[in-house]
Amino acid sequence: MSEATKYSVLFEPIQLGPVTAPNRFYQVPHCNGMGHIRPQAEAAMRGIKAEGGWGVVSNQETEIHPTSDLSPYAENRLWDARDVPALRLMTDAIHDKGSLAAIELAHNGNHAQNLQSRAPVLAASDMSVDFPFPKQARAMDKADIRNFRRWHREAALRARDAGFDIIYVYAGHHMTLAQHFMLPHMNQRNDEYGGSLENRVRLTRELLEETHEAVGDTCAIAFRFAVDEMLGADGMQAVEEGRAVVEMLAELPDIWDVNVAGWDNDSATTRFQPQDGYQNDYIGFVKSMTTKPVVGVGRITSPDMMVSMIRKGIVDLIGAARPSIADPFLPLKIEQGRIDEIRECIGCNICVMADNLGAPIRCTQNPTMGEEWRRGWHPEQIAPKADENEALVVGAGPAGLECAMQLARRGYQVTLADAADEPGGRVLLESRLPGLGAWMRVADYRLQDLRQRANVQIFAQSHLGPDEVLELDIPNVFVATGSHWRKDGVGSNTLRKPPEIHAGAAIMTPDDIMAGMSPPGGPVAIYDDDHAYIAGVLAEKLAQDGRDVTFVTPESLVSTFTSLTLEQHRIQARLLELGVKIICNHVLAAIEPGNMQISCGFTGQQKDVRCNSVLLVTERTRETQLYDALKGKGLNTLELIGDAAGPALIADAVYAGHMAARNFERSQADIDQDWFRREIVSLEEGGLQ
Ligand code: ADP
Ligand code: SF4
Repeated sequence: MSEATKYSVLFEPIQLGPVTAPNRFYQVPHCNGMGHIRPQAEAAMRGIKAEGGWGVVSNQETEIHPTSDLSPYAENRLWDARDVPALRLMTDAIHDKGSLAAIELAHNGNHAQNLQSRAPVLAASDMSVDFPFPKQARAMDKADIRNFRRWHREAALRARDAGFDIIYVYAGHHMTLAQHFMLPHMNQRNDEYGGSLENRVRLTRELLEETHEAVGDTCAIAFRFAVDEMLGADGMQAVEEGRAVVEMLAELPDIWDVNVAGWDNDSATTRFQPQDGYQNDYIGFVKSMTTKPVVGVGRITSPDMMVSMIRKGIVDLIGAARPSIADPFLPLKIEQGRIDEIRECIGCNICVMADNLGAPIRCTQNPTMGEEWRRGWHPEQIAPKADENEALVVGAGPAGLECAMQLARRGYQVTLADAADEPGGRVLLESRLPGLGAWMRVADYRLQDLRQRANVQIFAQSHLGPDEVLELDIPNVFVATGSHWRKDGVGSNTLRKPPEIHAGAAIMTPDDIMAGMSPPGGPVAIYDDDHAYIAGVLAEKLAQDGRDVTFVTPESLVSTFTSLTLEQHRIQARLLELGVKIICNHVLAAIEPGNMQISCGFTGQQKDVRCNSVLLVTERTRETQLYDALKGKGLNTLELIGDAAGPALIADAVYAGHMAARNFERSQADIDQDWFRREIVSLEEGGLQ
């Protein structure tokens, strides 16, 4: 069967209430840190998804009223008619490419703090806000409920006026009133909106009916519903109330968009949920209970899996947030039979991290994500080369691979050399650690591309010193030589007082473990002043190897950064389950044979951790030897990129490689002049509202 026939089912149009999706590719709502603060950026990003073939492109949760104010996060906003023009930019960009635009209306109840609006926080029952913040939400009375229903209806009308084709009622991710009313622990009412499931679903039913009545003649009504909280008998389960809700509301929406709650389960990382299509077992029942089309997600990037999900009757439309971020052109690539060109999501949740910080979305795999408007970057297009012909890239980690691939796409003769046995740099090494296997996709995708190009030569086992580089006689050199972990314990918490390291102490770094070394026998102490994933992953590995591990961190939780990728609670649980001893709020003071001395971050009180070796995860030293030696040697271009220029995330290294390739042969004046476009608050009269 040709690939076109094999996947043709994915390209069938699907009727959704009064509108028709051109195919089965459905970008479900996802946050992006742009929202009402950066509407032009969001419009361009969504437009690119439509261009890439997503038949439906949704926005993100959209505040319908000042009592649902998610500031400082940058979600969409539709408080009144003044918000319509910004959203119109998005619907125009999506329609321009022939796709349908969907909007996710949301009232966030106690998940909104109303920091900007200072409005009272509303909820089904009296309860704290959903943040460690001394503020409570008040139980909505009947007038509040009537008002909320009116706000939702009015927002639906405004959404229709803004050009949206699909309008959501949203009950998921533990984030909205509609879902909060359904959950008994959040709804202790004893009126007709509380108690029995029928009563708890009443508000959602009303929202669905009223939205349909308001805009259902022109817009499809989608219902985003978390069928299972993944808490077993302690929460809503697909086998019980989740199923009953679907049964009760079966024919009310035009589309069922179903998933699991909370967000950490819906957007599970590959580290904790390696299986693509991991939601199928939960959502699979929905289609049998409704005649309406069903869309579902689960980090689905394989066209074979997509077809099988449709053939098996699990879903009608293939939902995606992260796969569409990693590759906005995924549908088009399938349609054109370019399957091996799909840039697969690695499930790292760096996209989520950005949104959680209120910053514009970025992606490890797709460095153009978030740059569509402000830099005019297109994920599939790059300017052809200008006058130069050749480039050498030293180092085939994420920075070097991306740089080489984009330079090759621009048409240069590219030589890529790496000292290691295999290309891949840090992703090759890190992907061998527990749960990080999917990260190798960062290297695989780029190597697959590079190996097919006649204008690329790749050399492994090729350590280059300055003489070898100059002998190659390639005038343009990009140095992506990476970094290595420090062995002296210096990190942000020990800058003032570097630890005393006594002779004879057994000290290791992540580089040693990733190179295959084992700490000497006996207990191992890990000191983490990096706070991302590496120390936690290494603790997991060593504990799995049967080692006695103590994890020390100056923070009050392990791997604090990973809260932003929705994993922290899982990492800490896993380490505890594996018997790792955790000591928080302590700073490294000294290491001597058989002992690590730490001091309390608050009182300074000292404590001993008996151990035969210490694994230090603190800072990294940039590998700049080659770069430094090549300075002043007459090269046309000499640029240091990636971790060698600034150790950071894999996403940063990929981005740096991409940026260097884009900027090659641009004048410094040009680069400086249009750093990137910004959306600046208008100072015209009426502009500041
Ligand atoms: P980044 O994240 O910036 O891409 P990595 O640490 O992942 O950096 O990759 C750096 C790569 O550079 C490693 O694979 C390493 O083997 C390679 N490398 C470092 N120095 C040299 C050198 N002098 N010659 C060739 N390869 C080098
Ligand atoms: Fe996937 Fe990571 Fe990109 Fe998010 S940042 S879309 S999880 S590759």
